[in-house]
Amino acid sequence: MKNVVFLGPPGAGKGTQAVDLARKYGIPHISTGDILREEIKAGTELGKLARNYIDDGNLVPDELAVDIIRKRLQKEDAGNGYILDGFPRTIPQAEMLEHLLSEMGTELSRVIYLDAPEDVIIKRLSGRRICHQCGKIFHTVNMPPLKPGICDACGGELYQRPDDEPEAIRQRLQVYRDKTEDLIQWYADRRLLERVDAGIARVETYKKLEEILSRLQ
Ligand code: ADP
Ligand code: ZN
Repeated sequence: MKNVVFLGPPGAGKGTQAVDLARKYGIPHISTGDILREEIKAGTELGKLARNYIDDGNLVPDELAVDIIRKRLQKEDAGNGYILDGFPRTIPQAEMLEHLLSEMGTELSRVIYLDAPEDVIIKRLSGRRICHQCGKIFHTVNMPPLKPGICDACGGELYQRPDDEPEAIRQRLQVYRDKTEDLIQWYADRRLLERVDAGIARVETYKKLEEILSRLQ
């Protein structure tokens, strides 16, 4: 089974790598951040509730995140494995996930810790720009679009996520240190953790992740 969690600070490249690997292995990429942003865009009750937490760089309540995951894991396409990106983010979430999976008669195969130094992730986050129309991710320095502010793929307008503003980035890093970082030891204790260097070139990190995922049956 490829029931994998990507753990690591914001800006480590969890989402970018997960999209590519999920496509390669034909398993869904499940990002609680993406699901929450969809809900906000669609103007649902859940979206309205989540919005202020997210824009300020804080976590949404654990119950909310777990509810999203519970529903998502019950969909048929999650039966052959998945990459969880951005969940769990706290120890209570990890405990609830363990419980949920055991109820479903399954368990995690691996937790991959994407490790990157703080100066690298701050540069990545502050330069990130996203296409309004197709969601493609650019970077003002590392991966600039041909025309500034315009998506190469579809011509859509690029925008900056509100939580990629400097103040919110600082808050997200603080929240990561306070609440998420403890999960590294938690999963190491359960012999599930594998560390990968995510501060290097994107293709190099991809190769290492691919190696780990292809080892899983
Ligand atoms: P990043 O990893 O770049 O910080 P995400 O897209 O994973 O961004 O998440 C964006 C925001 O969505 C988080 O800052 C948080 O507010 C909310 N969020 C996502 N996943 C969770 C979760 N598991 N628990 C609580 N909040 C979450
Ligand atoms: Zn686009």
